[in-house]
Amino acid sequence: MCGIFGVVGHKDAARLTYLGLYALQHRGEESAGIVAYNRRRIYSHKGMGLVSDVFNEKVIKSLHGDLAVGHVRYSTTGSSLSKNIQPFLVKHKKSHIAIAHNGNLTNTIKLHTALEGKGSIFQTSMDSEIIVHLLAKAEDISYQNKVIKALSQLEGSYSFVLLLNDTLVGARDPYGFRPLCIGKIDGAYVLTSETCALDLIGADYVREVEPGEVVFIGTNGLESIKTFSQDQHSLCIFEYIYFARPDSNIFGKNVYLTRKQLGRQLARECPADCDLVMPIPDSGNYAAVGFAEESKIPYEVGMIRNHYIGRTFIQPSQFIRDFRVKVKLNPIKDVLRDKRIAIIEDSIVRGTTSRVRVKTLREAGAKEVHMRISCPPLRFPCFYGIDFPTKKELIASSHSIEWIRDFIGVDTLKYLSKDGMLDSMPLPKCEFCTACFDGQYSVKPCRKASKSILERS
Ligand code: SF4
Repeated sequence: MCGIFGVVGHKDAARLTYLGLYALQHRGEESAGIVAYNRRRIYSHKGMGLVSDVFNEKVIKSLHGDLAVGHVRYSTTGSSLSKNIQPFLVKHKKSHIAIAHNGNLTNTIKLHTALEGKGSIFQTSMDSEIIVHLLAKAEDISYQNKVIKALSQLEGSYSFVLLLNDTLVGARDPYGFRPLCIGKIDGAYVLTSETCALDLIGADYVREVEPGEVVFIGTNGLESIKTFSQDQHSLCIFEYIYFARPDSNIFGKNVYLTRKQLGRQLARECPADCDLVMPIPDSGNYAAVGFAEESKIPYEVGMIRNHYIGRTFIQPSQFIRDFRVKVKLNPIKDVLRDKRIAIIEDSIVRGTTSRVRVKTLREAGAKEVHMRISCPPLRFPCFYGIDFPTKKELIASSHSIEWIRDFIGVDTLKYLSKDGMLDSMPLPKCEFCTACFDGQYSVKPCRKASKSILERS
């Protein structure tokens, strides 16, 4: 997780970046930062918390320049600490370098050890800093070649935006795990994780940054280099299922329509004999619409979400997660009483959240609760930038569906099949990573990987 944004050639670069980060807030709520450059001086502001907590009008006005990069963070390598807030900014020789990274490198320990052995002194515990050290060490006159040399040493997943003096650089790993797209506003180029950020600032969508492509955007316009092409792609299918905003287009296709299609397929594969279909708000909303349409069972909103509370999965500690589950959703008793309910959820990670929600539905008077999940059981951890827990914490990695049904307390529990999930996607099956469902990792994972990997080494 993490949201990245960059703009070059616009007099309001920092303000557009602020708005872009606002739109990308769902991708990381721990910290936010913007680095801006006016071709003479570099300006930076970063802080822990939400975009609205970190920035205000005075701060935005102090970030001068027509080039800016920004980041919202959900930590996957490096704990949630102020030293790990991105963009990560350094001055090396006469170059200003600021990076905002989404993804996880899988050869972090190897690169980190090698760089330290050659004298690199790390300031953070993020894998993203490795990219900056590789750039600084790349011996080449051309800054483009420096970037290519640095990228050639990376393994794993990365989409990043990089401020490199007066050039904005965007790159996606050869497998294309994480999204990154290009937009344009008032003649200025924009790079962002999701198109919802383009919509908010009034920019036009241009295209995706392709897997393995590096774009350099400077005074000569946009230059593309595709050195790292790869036959097999591994687009993160979970972006469609859960992470991305439904109003975004990811990998060139709309998220809302895809979630609805997952719900339709779920209704075909796993019908439920019930009086009403309802989602677990908000993540199950769109699959529930598809499920209700396909099954011709009335759709009801049986629980109301308190919008003043952030998403539970994205909160880092178990204590905060438990508390938020309880205060976040309130059932509408008059809708649920004596009803047989099909409740639609996008995924089950630990199962503890679902259990609390089902208990709430029972207490509100539901007669039967049938849970339907719009993806297959999550059985394997993600090593590519999504903070899924270890295998031990993923309930489906060690328990049968019947055991999970009993634990959650529903009358029936059914998951969408892997084929059904892939058939619902708007792109060919072979384009996707499905490792958290089937354990087929396209890039060899680092089994020792954890958020604190560089804090222990
Ligand atoms: S393992 Fe799952 S969450 Fe991670 S990149 Fe692959 S599909 Fe996405």
